[in-house]
Amino acid sequence: MYERAEARIDLGALKHNCARLRRRIGPDVELAPVLKADGYGHGAAHCAAAAIEAGVDRIAVATAREALQVRAMDAEVPILVLGALAPGEVEVAIMAGADVSVWDPLFVGSVATAARAAGRVTGLHVKYDTGMGRLGSSDPEVVMATAQAVNESPDLKLEALWTHFATADDPDPAFMDLQRGRLSDLGERARSLHPGLKLHAANSAALISDPATHFDLVRPGVAVYGMDPFGRDPSECDLRPVLSLHSYVATVKRFEPGMSAGYGRTWIAGEPTTVVTVPVGYGDGVRRGLSNVGEVLINGRRHRFVGTISMDNITVEVGNAAVAVGDEVTLIGSQGEETITAEQVAAKLGTINYEITCAISPRVPRSSSGDRV
Ligand SMILES: *Cc1c(COP(=O)(O)O)cnc(C)c1O
Repeated sequence: MYERAEARIDLGALKHNCARLRRRIGPDVELAPVLKADGYGHGAAHCAAAAIEAGVDRIAVATAREALQVRAMDAEVPILVLGALAPGEVEVAIMAGADVSVWDPLFVGSVATAARAAGRVTGLHVKYDTGMGRLGSSDPEVVMATAQAVNESPDLKLEALWTHFATADDPDPAFMDLQRGRLSDLGERARSLHPGLKLHAANSAALISDPATHFDLVRPGVAVYGMDPFGRDPSECDLRPVLSLHSYVATVKRFEPGMSAGYGRTWIAGEPTTVVTVPVGYGDGVRRGLSNVGEVLINGRRHRFVGTISMDNITVEVGNAAVAVGDEVTLIGSQGEETITAEQVAAKLGTINYEITCAISPRVPRSSSGDRV
């Protein structure tokens, strides 16, 4: 370890995951990995470069700034902004040469104005809210009118009609089926007026669970990073985790009964033992809720956090294991036969794997390696 803490990004694993997803969708469906939120905490720039090398068709992001960041990596790759855009962001997205999402004829007018000012014909994806209850219009007539407004503008190109599933990770497919049916019904109507219009809906969970959701393009996020959208072990779908998180043993200390570790003395040694300090904490995104329950790997063995997690340090009881200053500590990832997955950490916190990697703060450097496919 040259660094206090380090997130290692295995770009070979990312390419492997893209290839697995490609195999599921076949050659005729566009693969558009989602690189929002700094690539789910993995570092958007190197992930974008690897995804492009893996031959994806376009990159999806949530915000205009994210689009600009991807454009800086690659002059050509088609980019789609999925999220809502504030007025100033419309210009940024257009400057990035990205397609944008719309659901309101008035907003279409402001995108057209900005596209004309920039001298750049902009592709638009009309969002239909089929049940997420968030962005998009839930009124089919407003959706049709929005598509019509796009089609009438010489500064815009009508690319797609799309939606987002609320329950794709739910074992009961009923609501997803309902949403899918709404998109395909309106899609049929819209295509009769606008031939060539694409449809898209699938996130990772839908992509994996139901080929009927693939339509013309899929937008997997979490699976690209080798995490399981259903919270299971990612290897069940042959996904390889892309991120591992490491630190090192900074001190090794013998504890006698009655000695405590950390703020508030939430843990007190009951018998003689050894406690090590690892210089990583909630300031790095190791959530304080893991105090006294989280685990790490040292020399291939699991050890439990003891005491309250601080901003910059955690304390770990290693008992009588042979541990020395400088030994590598793995918070997410594998050592020998043992693995700690983001899914396991999430389960301890009552949250989802997505939040675990997104929480890793900018203080932790992301180093990338690996061209294996
Ligand atoms: C984040 C996002 C995705 C990707 O979802 P995953 O569950 O990570 O696959 C797809 N579409 C939209 C609109 C999103 O916001």
